[in-house]
Amino acid sequence: MINLILFGPPGSGKGTQAAYLVDKYQLLHISTGDLFRYEMGNNTRLGMEAKRYIEKGELVPDEVTIGMLRNKVEMHPEAAGFIFDGFPRTVAQAEALDALLAESDQEVNALLALEVDDEEIVQRILNRGKTSGRDDDNDETIIRNRIDVYKRETTPVFDYYDERGKSQKVDGLGTIKEIFERLCAAIDKLQPSR
Ligand code: ADP
Repeated sequence: MINLILFGPPGSGKGTQAAYLVDKYQLLHISTGDLFRYEMGNNTRLGMEAKRYIEKGELVPDEVTIGMLRNKVEMHPEAAGFIFDGFPRTVAQAEALDALLAESDQEVNALLALEVDDEEIVQRILNRGKTSGRDDDNDETIIRNRIDVYKRETTPVFDYYDERGKSQKVDGLGTIKEIFERLCAAIDKLQPSR
C-alpha cells in the first residue's frame, strides 16, 4: 500500500493533481474540503457545523474533522492506499492519522508539498472563484486568512513528517503536466509498505 499526503497552501493545485494521481496509481482520494462541501450541500448537522468555520476561512475543529476522516477511511478497507488532500491540517490531525493507519499496520509513506508563492495563490483562488461557486474563494480577505491559517497551523505538519524523513518539497509552478511529472518522480522512488 501507498499512503500519500498531498500538501500545500490553499489553491496550490492539490485537487487537480490528486485527480491525475488517482488515475495512475489506483489510490483512493480523500479530500476533507470536498467532504465538508458535500455535507454543507446536504445541510447535514456536520455540514452546518463546518460552515461556521469555512465561511470565515478558519479550520473546522479537529474532533469534527478527524471523526469524519476516520469514517471515510473505515468505509474503504479494500483501498490499495489513499491520497489525503487537505488533511492533516494540524499536528493533532497528523497524530490521529498515524494512529488510524497504524491500526491496520499502515503508515504515511510520504508527504509531498506543492510550493507556490502567496500572490500566485491569491490570483489562482480568485480565478477559481469565478466558477467554483465557493463563497470562500470570492473574498480576498477570507483567502488571505486561509493563507495565514495555513502558515500558522498547517506548516508544522510539514515539519512533523520531515522529522520522520517523509516530507518532500515539489515545485508547484509550471504546467499541470510538469507538476504531475515531478510528483510521479517522487512517488516512484517510494518503498510501498505491505
Ligand atoms: P483549499 O485547499 O482550497 O483551502 P479545501 O477544499 O481543502 O480548500 O478546504 C476548504 C475549507 O474546509 C478550509 O478552508 C477549512 O475551513 C475546511 N477544511 C478542509 N479540510 C480541513 C481540515 N483537515 N481541518 C480543518 N478544516 C478543514
